[in-house]
Amino acid sequence: MTAHEGNSVTLASRIAALIEAQGPMSVAQFMSIALLDPAQGYYATRDPFGPRDKGGDFITAPEISQMFGEMLGLWLVQAWIDQGRPQNPRLVELGPGRGTLMADILRAARQAPGFLDQLEVVLIEASPVLRAVQQQTLADSGAAVRWQNQFGEGLDERPLFLVANEFFDALPLRQYVRTDRGWCERMVTVENDALAFGLAPVPAPRPAIPLSPETAPDGGVYETSPAALALAEDIAAIIARRGGAALLVDYGYQSRNGFGETLQALGGHRFADVLAAPGRDDLSAHVDFAALAGAGRQGGAAVLGPVSQGAFLTALGLDQRAGQLASANPSAAESLKAAVERLTAPAQMGTLFKALAFLPPAFDSAPGFMERPK
Ligand code: SAH
Repeated sequence: MTAHEGNSVTLASRIAALIEAQGPMSVAQFMSIALLDPAQGYYATRDPFGPRDKGGDFITAPEISQMFGEMLGLWLVQAWIDQGRPQNPRLVELGPGRGTLMADILRAARQAPGFLDQLEVVLIEASPVLRAVQQQTLADSGAAVRWQNQFGEGLDERPLFLVANEFFDALPLRQYVRTDRGWCERMVTVENDALAFGLAPVPAPRPAIPLSPETAPDGGVYETSPAALALAEDIAAIIARRGGAALLVDYGYQSRNGFGETLQALGGHRFADVLAAPGRDDLSAHVDFAALAGAGRQGGAAVLGPVSQGAFLTALGLDQRAGQLASANPSAAESLKAAVERLTAPAQMGTLFKALAFLPPAFDSAPGFMERPK
């Protein structure tokens, strides 16, 4: 850790000062600060999307191709039609990045004009930098768009159509390490002037971890995101009560398999040390889809999936859409083919990424959710 970069104090040294004042912090608190500190947080200060040669840290599905948003848009509109075209729908996106996904969804939704007529669009975005980018991207969308920092108040009185791509992987995560004392929470502390991992001296009380220590090897790690589970349950409860649908797409595992840890740092398309440069590197973790599905059921929704992104997009007609676009513009045929491959091939995003849906209990089927992930 370098205390100073140029003339300004680094986020790492501000976190170290906080730890020295208040004691070790949870991995979740570290993640929140590293990603969203208003002055120096990763998302709060940059637009990270794009290829490495353009200074980007990573590329997401909507940035790969407009077809991704089109498929998701048609899925949402179909859910609205299946539920009898409820009045005053609200379309919410969690963590809209550059606003590209929402722009593609709204364009695709023009095929069902009634949907757009009374639609209110709400973008949940904590980063002022990305908000400004979204504002620009959506300036000509024709939709009434407003922003909120958090999903919360005021979103529970209308049918809720919600989409999130690569949002849940960025939510703060807690980690517990199996020791001979039981499950001890992993904390971020300061050693020799640098941030370091340590363990809480007292084991976590039983309800925090539903598994007995005997089921895990010594040193095994249990990860959970209380923030993600609470949010998923809230969304499901609104959908169960008011109607609507949620489509959550992310990278992660279908069910926990062993006790590996998945929190990772990424900078310039390369893996980095999680503690090395808070604010400079992106932090994310695999989404636990079984846990999210459980939270959705807890909220009272019908839960579909997860299915693999590859199976999901293919079932929704991605190949046909690529064919259509290629015949309209033959010079793009190669790049369309590459985009389909990138989004659906098992060695690329097709299997690691998954889709999960919440619907009102009376509507328990939807396009794309017929197959189990491979
Ligand atoms: N969905 C976009 C961006 C994914 S990156 C895409 O697919 O391209 C994560 C997004 O969520 C960013 O816009 C980031 O600023 C936002 N974000 C991360 N944590 C957040 C939080 N706790 N509250 C609100 N927004 C958050």
